[in-house]
Amino acid sequence: LFVSGKTGQYSDFEDYIFGTYVRMKISSRVNPSTIAKAIFAEMKRLEKKFDPYDKASVLYKLNHSEDWVEVDDETLSVIDLALKIARDTEGAFDPALGRLIDLWGFSKFTERQANGTFNIPSASEIAEAASKSGYQKVAIDYVNKKIRTNGAWIDLGGMLKGYALKRAYQIAKEFDKSCHGFIETGGQIMILGPKYNRTKWVIGVRDPRGQPGENIDIVYLSEGSVATSGDYERFFIVDNVRYHHILDPRTGYPANKAVSATVISNDPVIADAFSTAAFVLGEDRWLFTRTVFPKYGAEVLLVTPKKQLLRTDNFKIYEIADR
Ligand code: ADP
Ligand code: MG
Ligand code: MG
Repeated sequence: LFVSGKTGQYSDFEDYIFGTYVRMKISSRVNPSTIAKAIFAEMKRLEKKFDPYDKASVLYKLNHSEDWVEVDDETLSVIDLALKIARDTEGAFDPALGRLIDLWGFSKFTERQANGTFNIPSASEIAEAASKSGYQKVAIDYVNKKIRTNGAWIDLGGMLKGYALKRAYQIAKEFDKSCHGFIETGGQIMILGPKYNRTKWVIGVRDPRGQPGENIDIVYLSEGSVATSGDYERFFIVDNVRYHHILDPRTGYPANKAVSATVISNDPVIADAFSTAAFVLGEDRWLFTRTVFPKYGAEVLLVTPKKQLLRTDNFKIYEIADR
């Protein structure tokens, strides 16, 4: 995703969180750097809290315990929402694929890329990890605020940036209800308010097989969020086959029925999780995506492997420019 046009009057901030650059443009009556600092601090808190490889994190505790684990309210509600989205997408979005993601090596991607230590897991390793994975294994005890993963590993990578953007928006608005601008985390943008408080932001959707900056579509937003999941972000190629970080829970292999999926939603968590799900469902299950996703507030643009563009009925609303 790429925001185009001049942006005078905005203050710019940047930090490296969630393995990607988080960039923000803010215009506000409150000192913008105060807002930016608070947002980056919150995002770093979430990155640490939900890092399954950090031994102090709640996910590490959940994933490595055989028993019920007591969790705080935020963890309970985030995991509860993740499981709900898994059910709503018939398991295409699955927050309990941690073992498979670990097996494929997409968790420590940047380090592995530097060392060139990628390998394709064997079919039996994949089957073994898949049999221990899946959101249906995760149980929640709402009365006692406990979660039990039953051997599955939770990985919230498919919605954590969306949740962080939701918190970022709340924080910005607590400082100054009328602030405007946007926050960008790699493949997702959260609008804080219309450009110059007046017009829509112009956002390019990247051509999945083009260079950065080459667009396949343009959307216009004055509020809400847009997220793109693609097979070009974290991948390696062996014998001309592309292996990337979005896994099809049904097979345990990278999903290959799409090259990118873009979701627009007022809710950044929906945009993030449903874009991952739309990618997994791909062109084969497009009818499901097209009919069901808008009910959850997700409008979708799917780019198929043959570079055909498929849209939900209302996606075109966002393709209309301001006059
Ligand atoms: P990005 O990381 O670019 O934001 P996504 O939002 O699509 O892209 O999230 C991809 C991440 O989600 C993966 O790196 C992995 O941690 C996790 N993941 C992979 N496959 C799935 C899936 N089917 N459902 C939910 N999460 C997934
Ligand atoms: Mg996602
Ligand atoms: Mg994402």
